[in-house]
Amino acid sequence: MKDENQIIFLGTGGGRSIMFSQARRTGGIFIELDKTRLLIDPGPGSLTTAKELGLSLRGLDALLVSHIHPDHSTDANAVIDGHADDENFILIAEKHVVNPTKETYPVISRYHQGLCKKYAVGPGEKIKVKNLTITTTPARHSAPAVGFRIAGTKIISYPCDGSYFRGQEKYYDSSDILILNVLAPFPNDKKMAKHMDVEDAIKLINAMKDKPKLVIIQHFSFYMLRADVRKQAKIIEKKTGVKCIPARDGMKLDVDSLGVEKKGLEKFIG
Ligand SMILES: [Zn+2]
Repeated sequence: MKDENQIIFLGTGGGRSIMFSQARRTGGIFIELDKTRLLIDPGPGSLTTAKELGLSLRGLDALLVSHIHPDHSTDANAVIDGHADDENFILIAEKHVVNPTKETYPVISRYHQGLCKKYAVGPGEKIKVKNLTITTTPARHSAPAVGFRIAGTKIISYPCDGSYFRGQEKYYDSSDILILNVLAPFPNDKKMAKHMDVEDAIKLINAMKDKPKLVIIQHFSFYMLRADVRKQAKIIEKKTGVKCIPARDGMKLDVDSLGVEKKGLEKFIG
């Protein structure tokens, strides 16, 4: 296997309607950095999309699940099952994902939790995964959630779902790449509660002392798609001065050059 520092989007849809229609896929994000391989938030279609792209998910070092919602977690048991013989395989999951309460619901089965090295986390934890350090960060979403700051020779940040809150920027300072789940466009007249809109994204980026080199927006709703995600990315770019691109299903980003490979699942581009 060739060593690469890359991010591959196994889906760029977000929310219930997109997930159910698969107008955009919902397979989460694959990251390979410093010979360490991670899968984040595998919603439905993660395994089948990886297969279509010719990406083998064998030998992942860790699975990261930010919160319980199905568009982030449905394929998690299957991914763990595929690593049943790997005693070093790590699961980092927001704690309700592995320990349901009365207000939440089971996501990863007890059996599958027993197949991996498990970290049930809240914000503010630091976990070493092979050559990377993963810090969990707070999020303001409709379910308990954590974001991730993934640090190695590059820093990749993923605040996960949730609206902007004051002070959020300090967790993602000095990131090379910031991946934002932006569900609503500008102007936003629907105000989806506890979800990031374009205005939130601009606030977060502009509040940073050391802005990222690249912002990628994804996790699109129909509302966001109808507003044209390319146009929305341009608004963010103009208001922040940071290059911003909308992710496509199957998009591959080279982490070192920040270049995007043209291929991908063209027929699914929304
Ligand atoms: Zn969610």
